[in-house]
Amino acid sequence: MLNRESIFNAIEECVAAANAAGEHFAVLILRVPGLREISLRFGYAQGEQAEDKAHALTRDSLRPGDQVFRAGDDSFVVLLPSIANHNHAMLAGTRLIHAFEQPLDGTASPWLVRPVMGIAIYPEHGPGADHLCRRAGMALDESQRRGEPCTIYRQHDIQIEIFYEELREALDANRLRVFFQPIVNLRTGRIAGAESLARWSSPKHGEVSPANFVPFSEQSDLISILTRWSVNATMRHMASLHGAPELSFSINFSPRVLSRPGMVEQLLGALDIWGVAPTSIVVEITETTLVNDLEVSIQVLRRLREHGMRIAIDDFGTGYASIAYLRQFPATELKLDQSLIAGMRNDPHAAKLVRAIITMAHNMDLSTVAEGIEEQVTQDMLADIGCDYGQGFHLGRPEPAADFIRRLSASRPADS
Ligand code: C2E
Ligand code: MG
Ligand code: MG
Repeated sequence: MLNRESIFNAIEECVAAANAAGEHFAVLILRVPGLREISLRFGYAQGEQAEDKAHALTRDSLRPGDQVFRAGDDSFVVLLPSIANHNHAMLAGTRLIHAFEQPLDGTASPWLVRPVMGIAIYPEHGPGADHLCRRAGMALDESQRRGEPCTIYRQHDIQIEIFYEELREALDANRLRVFFQPIVNLRTGRIAGAESLARWSSPKHGEVSPANFVPFSEQSDLISILTRWSVNATMRHMASLHGAPELSFSINFSPRVLSRPGMVEQLLGALDIWGVAPTSIVVEITETTLVNDLEVSIQVLRRLREHGMRIAIDDFGTGYASIAYLRQFPATELKLDQSLIAGMRNDPHAAKLVRAIITMAHNMDLSTVAEGIEEQVTQDMLADIGCDYGQGFHLGRPEPAADFIRRLSASRPADS
């Protein structure tokens, strides 16, 4: 942050004033992404002109007593003293957004910029400048992720700060565990394989769900470490089966990792080390997240296909289901999200929708897996419709990988 010393000093002055008056105040970080682009397109002189204009617009939409600081190419820090509550801070934020609704006139090229911002409030969100700025910054990231103009820091994000070091340490020390959940062939009723699911028992937080720590890992380098761990840990368990070509194991991949250089080589290297056949691996990619880096993801997935791995589109039916890009995708299977499956039993429309999706998938030569089967009725309905595979608590809960492998080995003929 440019100008950090003066910003931090001003915040500490606000802290002292707020303490004396028993009041709250807000730190707002404003990013105006279009500003940098103006410099790049039209030159630095115009960029600076636009920056001045944005600075002036910001100042004019605030109350007397509020302060604005430049904090980088396209960012500003705004201090709002004597804020009564969160709503007041949001109001100030919304006023700022409105101020930017017209093009930055007065500059040589009128240019429409859309600011995003994050807000942290003293004292709830931190005792001093460092905490408040970092948390306003996290709220800003959250705004960008959600595509919203303005977000107030949420307390639960504190977990994120605690998590990083601990999760990193847990990964380094190999303290995460792999669970396998069976995937069952709905025609024969036999186990066709399993999905690998990460489990983290943290001494401090107890059982942390991957629904929490995976999206959080995706925001940093942790996702690469998590994926490498997950690939190796899954294959290590597969190797202990001593060859079972009829079984396949699904591994979840974040598209962010998929687009990293060296990804394919890493996966091939792991297959080699553990002596696992590529044909017994299914790479699962969530449908919602496919949208990022689509081109790169498609290329990487094509290479995996060429090597014989299969590709599943996970959680189908939750995202902005784009049948158009399904066509260009080198997928081999479609996993219908549990939210679709859960509705089938009592809702004839949901059942029709599932049937239609399965028919469509089959027409595109994709096999189908229904997630979240919780009752026999649902399993029967899916088998009737012609869904190929099923997964869910009714068919088997996720269990420690070693237990799954042991059970499976015991039930297989000794010579296989
Ligand atoms: P997913 O890939 O869609 O995995 C299926 C999730 O549904 C699992 O949640 C599983 O426990 C849960 N589930 C299975 N059957 C049922 C059912 O009948 N009813 C209900 N209500 N839930 C069921 P889990 O293990 O909490 O994982 C959540 C998500 O986290 C996964 O969703 C996957 O996207 C991600 N994930 C898990 N492990 C990893 C990993 O090692 N790497 C990456 N990148 N992502 C992972
Ligand atoms: Mg999955
Ligand atoms: Mg899923």
